[in-house]
Amino acid sequence: MSITLHPVTLIGAGPGDPDLLTVKAVRALRQATVALVDDLVHPGVQRYLRRSARIVRVGKRGGCRSTPQAFIERLMIAEAQRGERVVRLKGGDPFVFGRGGEEADALRAAGLAVTVISGLTAGIAGPAAVGIPVTDRRHAPGVALVTGHGKDDGAGPDWAALARSGLTLVVYMGVARAETVVQALTDGGLAPGTPAAVVSAAHTPRQRARRCTLCTLCGAVEAEALASPALLVIGSVADLADLSLCPPAQTEAGAQAAVPRRQSAPVRRRLRG
Ligand code: SAH
Repeated sequence: MSITLHPVTLIGAGPGDPDLLTVKAVRALRQATVALVDDLVHPGVQRYLRRSARIVRVGKRGGCRSTPQAFIERLMIAEAQRGERVVRLKGGDPFVFGRGGEEADALRAAGLAVTVISGLTAGIAGPAAVGIPVTDRRHAPGVALVTGHGKDDGAGPDWAALARSGLTLVVYMGVARAETVVQALTDGGLAPGTPAAVVSAAHTPRQRARRCTLCTLCGAVEAEALASPALLVIGSVADLADLSLCPPAQTEAGAQAAVPRRQSAPVRRRLRG
């Protein structure tokens, strides 16, 4: 008997608040029979899945190591090849520091079709949540979205070029390496007094922000214990941060914590070995 294969859908859930899902994402969630969900995805998003849908949480939890990427790809492929309607839910946008490109390649290499549903990326929607318009033309001709993490081989962004660019810099995954980032930008010639901001847990009830400068940025992160997930915003738009926007009013969907759903252990067992 032949099995009908469905495209695997990579969905961006946006940052934090489940109300930031697109209508297209909600439609795809309603069709899904299996959902692989990253940690940064708000549990409230699961309310759009069918009760019968199987949920597999595949992110980092409580300091545990993240699920290996190869395992996630193998699981998506196996489920799709069994005829399941698989959705892969990622925080923000799946193609912005989300490994969505790698996953799409792996799926296509396995002969599966892929659909991508974009989401609001934290680097734009996060600063916006505290009133920072990252490309305000009175301040910057554009924005660079960069990672604070180097690649495995140690190669990271060209900080010296970024320091000269005049662009707003939004640094993802930069809190733990704030010192290195600040040093590299200062070495590249960016003035220590350049306005900066740290935006943490944007679009969640824990949303926090702090205005600072390049040279006080590390102190601000530490003093306020601004924890991950957080973004560094560097450039004069950071001065526009309106701290009265923290914390935001809780939305109806955000207020409803997810009810525990069927666990993923059987799926994991099936794929091991
Ligand atoms: N694909 C995601 C980014 C994944 S990388 C996107 O498009 O948004 C994870 C990093 O995103 C975190 O380390 C943090 O820098 C940032 N991030 C994600 N959610 C965030 C949030 N709610 N508030 C602030 N930063 C966030």
